[in-house]
Amino acid sequence: MEFVLCSQEYVAFRSKLANSSSSARDLLVQLGSALFDLAPKLHIGFVGCGLMAPATPLCPNGENGSLTIYHDREALPIIPSKSDVVHVTPTGEKGFFTLMVHPIKGHTFTEEEKLAIQLLNQDCYMLGGRARLIGMVQKAAITDPMTGVDNQTGLMQFASQIMAQGNIHDYTGIFINLKNFKYINKSANPQVGDLALKMYVNSAKNFLNNDEIIARLGGDNFYVMIRKENAQAFIDKYTSLPISVSQNPKPISFNIMARMGVYPIRQGDTPTEFMNNASIALNVARSVRNIDVMSFSNDMLVNALHQREISSEFHSAIRNKEFLVYYQPKVDLNTKQICGSEALVRWLRHKTIVPPMDFIPILECEGSICALDFYVFERVCQDIHLWLESGIEPVRISVNFSKIHLKNTHLADDILSIMQKYNVDSKYIEVELTEVSDYEDSIAMQNFVSTMRKKGVSISIDDFGTGYSTLNVLKNLDVDVIKLDKSLLDNIDGSNSQGEVVVRNVVNLAKEMHKEVIAEGVENEQQAKFLSTVNCTKVQGYLFDKPLKREDFQNRLTQKVYC
Ligand code: C2E
Ligand code: CA
Ligand code: CA
Repeated sequence: MEFVLCSQEYVAFRSKLANSSSSARDLLVQLGSALFDLAPKLHIGFVGCGLMAPATPLCPNGENGSLTIYHDREALPIIPSKSDVVHVTPTGEKGFFTLMVHPIKGHTFTEEEKLAIQLLNQDCYMLGGRARLIGMVQKAAITDPMTGVDNQTGLMQFASQIMAQGNIHDYTGIFINLKNFKYINKSANPQVGDLALKMYVNSAKNFLNNDEIIARLGGDNFYVMIRKENAQAFIDKYTSLPISVSQNPKPISFNIMARMGVYPIRQGDTPTEFMNNASIALNVARSVRNIDVMSFSNDMLVNALHQREISSEFHSAIRNKEFLVYYQPKVDLNTKQICGSEALVRWLRHKTIVPPMDFIPILECEGSICALDFYVFERVCQDIHLWLESGIEPVRISVNFSKIHLKNTHLADDILSIMQKYNVDSKYIEVELTEVSDYEDSIAMQNFVSTMRKKGVSISIDDFGTGYSTLNVLKNLDVDVIKLDKSLLDNIDGSNSQGEVVVRNVVNLAKEMHKEVIAEGVENEQQAKFLSTVNCTKVQGYLFDKPLKREDFQNRLTQKVYC
């Protein structure tokens, strides 16, 4: 035994292996070369090994194989002999590592040689285990544990390889977000959701070739890099994939739907660029009704940069009081008197006035609209307070509150406490809301409307007659005012057109339900005349005034009649 441990060959063997690589297969190849000098000393003619490891999340198919490590072909034909040594050692994941050692032709291992071989086995087992462990740690770093596909780090490694080969422009990047996954998770138990996710991902992985990749970025977000010629077939299949999950008492079948942002990668793009551009296209797909797949365009990038600019400047803008409140009068057609007003926000940004449609949809997406609406509301209450203090009788002022507020269970209290702070009577306040489609929001809206009305605050439904507001709102919501959208007045020309019939009947319906009706966007006399004849006598529009600066509106309050 000592003769082996002290031999130069063994020392050389150990030191060669101690520097071994992180892959078990590379290690075994090195083992073969390391054995080159040591094997003859122990009369070894053949060394082979086998590994049987069960499936694990990191290695979904398990490992099963054998390999010849060393074979002195001159000294040994592989025929089993009595003195063959076979060692079987269990692995960490309840598999087996087997080492088979045959002596050279005609030799029988001595007891000493057998002990030395046992030592070799232990070396192989420990170093092999170490190499596999390092390999697993490296694999874990690039694998998503839930689905077994690559994670973002894996995706980056893959992309670097393709970029190093100079082939990145052969690929299309697809950012995927599952559309109905939250719903699946809510309606079935979470295991069904997990299983469905795995099935979707595994199906996509099987669809892809070895030089393509799907990676999970987190939650139900994925990124695919696929060769350009295969992209359309992938998109067609994976925007809606039928899945059947086995469950007791019977399997559940449904389609997993996905939205996709598609970006054909260009030579020279960095990973940040090709991921970002696909993500921008996905965001656009998210915001467009009935469209699930969007291809990137440069305009999208310009818009996305604008959005980022707006979002990043918003908080300092609100601190610096860059937002101004304009007031647009509402006029009673019978008396030609101002009978109310709507507060409309403007952003004085870099010395220019920015209209709300340039920033409100962006703030709505990220939720900061709530802070802005309260800012506007507080300015309105402050103005009402100041007008009353200086002896000017204000009119009822309506303030727009985004539907995002309905997630706030204290909305009514928050509004009422601002009114209290400025000592503003509820008769001066109207809250403008738009209809909501989500069931939970509509319940929250009903509660909010009834609380506010009990406190004497009026509620109006904005944009009535557009896609966002339907007759349902009349049925389900007990509001005070219906604001007819400007689009309903587009074809008013005195010819009893279909548009006129609609307006006449909507006004009748609303009045029959004891609602106030006001038409907005009234631009000409013909529209005003028609509205008068159908008994809609309150209007708001450029015919009388555009939204006015506070000071100009104050003048309107003091001379209430329009000539
Ligand atoms: P909206 O609530 O429907 O407001 C009416 C819009 O129509 C206003 O545009 C107003 O200036 C415009 N308008 C009024 N009369 C006429 C007319 O005769 N002709 C034409 N062509 N337009 C007219 P504005 O001020 O640009 O506001 C656009 C939208 O921005 C508003 O639509 C509202 O949805 C939103 N908004 C404005 N201020 C706020 C706010 O403080 N909070 C929230 N959440 N949204 C706001
Ligand atoms: Ca409004
Ligand atoms: Ca409106």
